[in-house]
Amino acid sequence: MREQFLAPSIAGDKVACIAVSETGAGSDVASIQTHARRSGDDFIINGGKMWITNGTQADWACLLCNTEDVKNVHMQKSLICLPMKEENGERFKGVSVARKLKKMGMKSSDTAELSFDDVRVPQRYCIGDPGQGFTYQMQQFQEERLAGVLAAPTTLRRCIQDTIDYTGQRIAFGRPLLDNQVIHFKLAELLTEVEALDALIWKAIEHYVQGEDVTLWASMAKLKGARLGRQAVDECLQYWGGMGYMEEGLMARRLRDGRLWSIGGGADEVMLGIISKYMGTLPSRR
Ligand SMILES: Cc1cc2nc3c(=O)[nH]c(=O)nc-3n(C[C@H](O)[C@H](O)[C@H](O)COP(=O)(O)OP(=O)(O)OC[C@H]3O[C@@H](n4cnc5c(N)ncnc54)[C@H](O)[C@@H]3O)c2cc1C
Repeated sequence: MREQFLAPSIAGDKVACIAVSETGAGSDVASIQTHARRSGDDFIINGGKMWITNGTQADWACLLCNTEDVKNVHMQKSLICLPMKEENGERFKGVSVARKLKKMGMKSSDTAELSFDDVRVPQRYCIGDPGQGFTYQMQQFQEERLAGVLAAPTTLRRCIQDTIDYTGQRIAFGRPLLDNQVIHFKLAELLTEVEALDALIWKAIEHYVQGEDVTLWASMAKLKGARLGRQAVDECLQYWGGMGYMEEGLMARRLRDGRLWSIGGGADEVMLGIISKYMGTLPSRR
């Protein structure tokens, strides 16, 4: 499976997608409905997935679905490597892209709704142990969240520097906008926040490299990165005035794209729930 699916994806020869969310289950991953029934040596998969990045072009999907007939929803699921295309490029039988979704941002990335109608795959395409898919997926999310937030400080430093450059040359009331203390102080505050975020991310990565459970740290870094990402871009955009609001500029794009950070890969509130769980403050834990 590593040779068939993973190696070509890492080499860039195949495109993969992560197929977890469904129309009725995003934050609440445990309540997904897509299921795979055993038939001889195969699984027969039915259901659908929603908001799947790379969904229109993926060669295969890492699919989370229900496979086990047990009561515990966390033990019902497995991860299955699901081919989305045949070797000749044709759609894999039973798999269809129900629609390509139109988004307010992240327009250079395709996002799709997928549908599965009696899709037959060998049971050996199941990753690891059947019934452990939910646990594996939760582990994978930590890496996805850390990898995602790693890009935030660089993006935000650029955004601040672009704003320094713009306000440094834009004259209003006889002097550069940047000379107003409210503006250069705000940019100083934002850069300080960005460096604090950077330190939090690298603290999380130190724990990861040491092989520790990074769920708490990854959740904190994801939460802080998402919120600061939105705040910093919005506050910088303000000092671009009308140009900040124009679609032709990078600031408007940054605002649209960055809005995803608090929703995709686990919403802010989901991060807060995980952090609370680790703090022992969730009502059920008292
Ligand atoms: C552009 C884009 C790309 C995506 N790519 C993928 C992908 O590749 N693969 C994939 O599987 N999924 C993907 N997703 C789906 C994404 O992970 C979900 O949208 C996200 O997890 C939120 O789920 P939901 O949309 O169902 O929101 P819901 O679960 O309906 O929640 C709505 C809002 O309610 C709030 N909320 C949720 N739970 C709680 C709570 N317990 N307490 C308080 N408030 C709460 C949050 O603010 C949340 O934003 C993508 C989404 C987008 C927009």
